[in-house]
Amino acid sequence: MKAVILTIGDEILLGQILDTNSRFIARELARLGAQTVEMRSVADQKDAIWHGVDEAMRQADAVFVTGGLGPTKDDVTKKVLAEYFGTELAFNPQVYGWLEEIFSANPQRLNDYNKTQAWLPKTCVPLRNLKGTASGMWFEKGGKVLVSLPGVPFETEYLFPAEVLPRLKEKFHDLLLRYRMVTVYDIPEAELAMKLARFEESLAAGISLAYLPSPGFVRLRLTAKGAAVDELDTHFEKLQQELNGLSYEEQCGQTTEEEIAQRLRQAGQTVACAESCTGGNIAHLITSVAGASAYFLGGVVAYSNEVKKSVLGVRAEDLEKYGAVSEPVAVQMAQGVRRITGAQWAVSTTGVAGPDGGTPEKPVGTVWIGVAGPLGAKAQKFVFSHTRERNIGRASVKALQLLLGEMERNK
Ligand code: ATP
Ligand code: MG
Repeated sequence: MKAVILTIGDEILLGQILDTNSRFIARELARLGAQTVEMRSVADQKDAIWHGVDEAMRQADAVFVTGGLGPTKDDVTKKVLAEYFGTELAFNPQVYGWLEEIFSANPQRLNDYNKTQAWLPKTCVPLRNLKGTASGMWFEKGGKVLVSLPGVPFETEYLFPAEVLPRLKEKFHDLLLRYRMVTVYDIPEAELAMKLARFEESLAAGISLAYLPSPGFVRLRLTAKGAAVDELDTHFEKLQQELNGLSYEEQCGQTTEEEIAQRLRQAGQTVACAESCTGGNIAHLITSVAGASAYFLGGVVAYSNEVKKSVLGVRAEDLEKYGAVSEPVAVQMAQGVRRITGAQWAVSTTGVAGPDGGTPEKPVGTVWIGVAGPLGAKAQKFVFSHTRERNIGRASVKALQLLLGEMERNK
């Protein structure tokens, strides 16, 4: 769900007050998994409000407006919204009933001035405000929503969770999605699945757990959809308790391969890989992202020197002089697969995964990772651990990180 927040008030533009409503609403939306694409503030003037609303409605699925709902002359939001949505202000008996309740202790204070708060655009759904006299308003048009809330922060902070959130969850059921991830090391997927079986059964409707296994580690993604987005954090804490005793860390945002996917799609570019010690695991990680066919051309698992030479074009004399686990070989592997596939980007690995095959010069865990791109090719050496699985896993992730770094630099 894309959102725009529009705050109305001369006071904001004069620098007399700080627009804290936007921050409050943006935070609430982020927790919901919605994306705020713009915040803007406009003057208390008809034209400014109209244009602000119109542009926001084009950009977003949901627009959140605060301010200008008071009974005074300078508050014009209601009138502009009525006009914008092709309706007019009308006396709303239900809202008048709410006002009577607010003033039940001293009914004489419900004067003509306050009574104007019962006049609302005909087509809106009024949102009951227990903290003030200005009701919130919910408009719908062409599948989109506009919510108008009072300027007073204390009132908006009441209305948003109480009246707006539940309606958003219902309306944008399919558009709301939030997830959190952890990477768990050194445990096979099946063993982890057994450990988490009861936790998985206890998950609320709308929350699901996905296993994304790689050699040496398993990523767990806990996803909440629609109305369940609020419950994600509670379930995530439970998941962490279940993982107690294991080596794990929370992973922020997307995985490296998801980030690569996003960048390549945006740039309209492609990638290929040439793998020795990772044995196809990099290709596996790249293709675990749905839609990878748009940017992943293919990979070569060049395990033997023969295939490194004949398929990727690695020079025989370099293999002889420097050995397969070396900078020039990693560079030529990346260049080779880039050339034969025609991809803009290529990544390569050559190393000693172990447990055997190490030498004092090149101990187990030594891996050269190459990246080739539009501006040239280079390679970097790493020394990982003694465990084969972990070496493969860490080299694969490192390779993707280096690729992403090069793509960043090339922007
Ligand atoms: P009222 O019924 O009080 O007139 P209103 O909906 O008309 O409320 P405004 O008149 O725009 O809202 O603002 C009321 C008060 O709320 C302002 O004086 C200001 O102190 C505060 N306020 C308004 N907008 C914001 C904002 N975006 N962030 C923080 N405070 C705000
Ligand atoms: Mg006002």
